[in-house]
Amino acid sequence: MKTELLGRSLSELREMAAGWGLEPYRANQLYHALYVERRFRFAEMTNLPKALRERLEGLASITLPRIVRRYDSSDGTRRYVFGLDATDEQPLPRPRSPQVETVLMPDTDDARPFAGRDTLCISSQAGCAVDCKFCMTATLGLLRNLTAGEIVGQVLAALAPIQSRRADNQRHLLPQTNIVLMGQGEPLLNYDAVMSAVRLFCDPKGMNLAQRHLTLSTSGIIPGIQRLAQEAVRPKLAVSLNATTDETRTRIMPVNKKYPLERLMEVCRLYPLRSWERLTFEYVLLEDVNDSDDDAHRLRKLVSRIRCKVNLIPFNPGPAPGTLPFKPPTPERVAAFQKILTLRGLLAFIRRPRGQDVQAACGQLALAESAHIS
Ligand code: SAH
Ligand code: SF4
Repeated sequence: MKTELLGRSLSELREMAAGWGLEPYRANQLYHALYVERRFRFAEMTNLPKALRERLEGLASITLPRIVRRYDSSDGTRRYVFGLDATDEQPLPRPRSPQVETVLMPDTDDARPFAGRDTLCISSQAGCAVDCKFCMTATLGLLRNLTAGEIVGQVLAALAPIQSRRADNQRHLLPQTNIVLMGQGEPLLNYDAVMSAVRLFCDPKGMNLAQRHLTLSTSGIIPGIQRLAQEAVRPKLAVSLNATTDETRTRIMPVNKKYPLERLMEVCRLYPLRSWERLTFEYVLLEDVNDSDDDAHRLRKLVSRIRCKVNLIPFNPGPAPGTLPFKPPTPERVAAFQKILTLRGLLAFIRRPRGQDVQAACGQLALAESAHIS
């Protein structure tokens, strides 16, 4: 059976190379071809001798996620559905439906705070087990964890068409991108694969993405946050708070029973932020559930001792109204909520939905069919 190379670190490639009787510098060349030049066919790895390329064909494979569908939104947002091939890292029996979604949000003038950069929203799991009541991904349940190669592969596959148009500038393309782990899945419940992918994204010898351009969003998995705090290389942290009392939070996010609000906030207070970093709190606004003035005051108090910003996300409905039992508040209510938060200098932004017409906005990723197929 061929060995899959995508998702391997340099030291893993070196071990493999040693097993094939190759010098360590061959692993460096392979790593460079994969992650700097981003060549996914051995025949194109012209930094390797032809005989070695031919030998590698027999020994190893490089499997990018297949683009099954692409949906283009009228606002320029692009939703990819990727088909994932089973790799030798997957235990048998192979899990069902290995498909997953990635959203590319091109930078546009009014798309603050992404100024100057495209943003890629990638998935860490197919489906999700966390069961938040306002999220379409939850309706899939957990299909399976993604491998590091599949997490990294979403970025490489989504950028490949752009890369080939700007071939002269290949090496700079990835560092000009923001990557957010906010697609399908709870990244801290697939910790090891996510962190392997993070190290690959941020390796100066490879993809060379700055840590500040990578964000991981979690529903509040406390042991995962504590583990992340110890990592030498880590993304910025975003926590989906979404409610200001245990009662409401447990109702809309059952995970709150296990990791209740007070403990979660304590862990956030202790989280070691870097000098340039703010914690992000996400707050999905659901009409008459968590959008009152009292909620806004409580939210302001909850986060008051933390260097942070709040992103308010008006609820995105599912593909048809009524799929999920919630409504977005009126724009006036959203503005009033924001005003209370910002009263004493807290940073709070309203997140404009992107790609809503192709089910690409936050919480809509559930492999829904859409009319805008290209
Ligand atoms: N599982 C992680 C990351 C993916 S969800 C997490 O929950 O943080 C990314 C963001 O989308 C989260 O902040 C989540 O609260 C939000 N979200 C989920 N469903 C939504 C919906 N229907 N409308 C708006 N935001 C939603
Ligand atoms: Fe999972 Fe995040 Fe959706 Fe909750 S909001 S079900 S954690 S993807």
